[in-house]
Amino acid sequence: MKATEELSWLNEVSSVPLQQAIRHQQVAFSNFFAKRAKYPRYKSRTGRQSAEYTRSGFRWRDGRLYLAKMDTPLEFVWSWPGVDPASIDPTTVTVSRDPCGRWYLSLAVDVDEPAQAPATGAVAGVDLGIKDFAVTSDGEKIANPPTLAKRERNLARYQRRMARKQRGSANRAKPKAKVARAHRKVRASRTDFLHRTSARLVRDHDVIVIEDLAVKNMVRNRSLAKAICDSGWGAFRRMLEYKTARHGRHLIVIDRWYPSSKTCSACGHLLAELSLSTRTWRCPSCGTRHDRDINAAKNILAAGLAVARGQAPGDACGGDVRHFGSSRVQSPTKQEPRPARAGIPVLQRGE
Ligand SMILES: [Zn+2]
Repeated sequence: MKATEELSWLNEVSSVPLQQAIRHQQVAFSNFFAKRAKYPRYKSRTGRQSAEYTRSGFRWRDGRLYLAKMDTPLEFVWSWPGVDPASIDPTTVTVSRDPCGRWYLSLAVDVDEPAQAPATGAVAGVDLGIKDFAVTSDGEKIANPPTLAKRERNLARYQRRMARKQRGSANRAKPKAKVARAHRKVRASRTDFLHRTSARLVRDHDVIVIEDLAVKNMVRNRSLAKAICDSGWGAFRRMLEYKTARHGRHLIVIDRWYPSSKTCSACGHLLAELSLSTRTWRCPSCGTRHDRDINAAKNILAAGLAVARGQAPGDACGGDVRHFGSSRVQSPTKQEPRPARAGIPVLQRGE
C-alpha cells in the first residue's frame, strides 16, 4: 500500500502502528469467524483515532517518550500522582484522539499479581434496578448519580440542535462538537460511578450474587431500554467479574427467571403477582413487611449461596420450602421458576 501514490503518506509515519492496525484487524476477523464477535466495522474518520506502538516503535527514557520518526519527545501531562513516570517500563504505548479532539496517551505496564484482599466474612446479594442503580441484601440502596441525569439532558439537547442543521454544513459542526463533548462527559461519569461502586462491593464482600439479566433481551423492550443502557448493567457485571477474580473474591450469577421480587425472603411464600409500582408489601403467609428491592436482593443472595452449596434455589428460603412451587403458587406468569444455575464463581478474565 505504501508503494501506491495515493497512499504514499503511509511512509510518513512509523511502520509499527500500521502493522498493529493490521494485527487488530486480524484479531477482529478471527473473532468474527469464531463467532465471538460481529463482522468488523470500518473505523469512522470522525470517530476515535489511535496508534499503538510496541517496544520497537518507541523509547521510554526517564519518563520521557520518544516515538519512532519523531525528533523530540512527546509532551504529555502525567495523571498518575502516585506513580513516578521514570520508574516504569511500558511494553506498549497507545496515542489516541477522541471525537472532541482530546489526545490521550495510554501505557501498558507489566505488574505483579495484586495481593489478595483479606477475607471480610461478608456476602451480598445485589439487585440491579431502574429506580435505584442497585440495592444490596444488607439494605443499602445505591442511587444513580444525579450528575449523570443532568449530563444526559444536556446531551439530548445538543443532539436535537444538531439534528436541525443541514448535514455537512458549517452550522452543523458546532453543535456536533458539543454533542461529542457531552457524550464524553456522560460516558466518563457513568464509567467512574460503575468503577467506584463495583470496587467498593468487591472490597467489602467475599461473595457477591447477582442475577443474569440477559441485558440484550431486555434492551429490546423499548420502555426499559434507555434506563438499562444508561445504567450500564452489562459493564457493571464485567467489572464485577474481573474485580472479584483479581482479588480472590467470588461472583455467583443466578438464573434470570428466579422470581426474586415475588418471593418472601423470610418464609419462601411466592406471590401470584407484584406490580412494578408496588414498592413495599406484607407477606400474606408470615406477615413480614418487605421493601421490594431489599427483599429481592436477599432472595438473590440466598439463591446464590444455595447454588454454591449445590442445592435448588427454593431450599435457600429460610422457612418452609414446600411453598416453592406448591399449590399456593397461583402465578399465571409464563416464566416458570426454573432451577437457578450458577455462573460458576465467574473467573473469566475481564479487560
Ligand atoms: Zn413470608
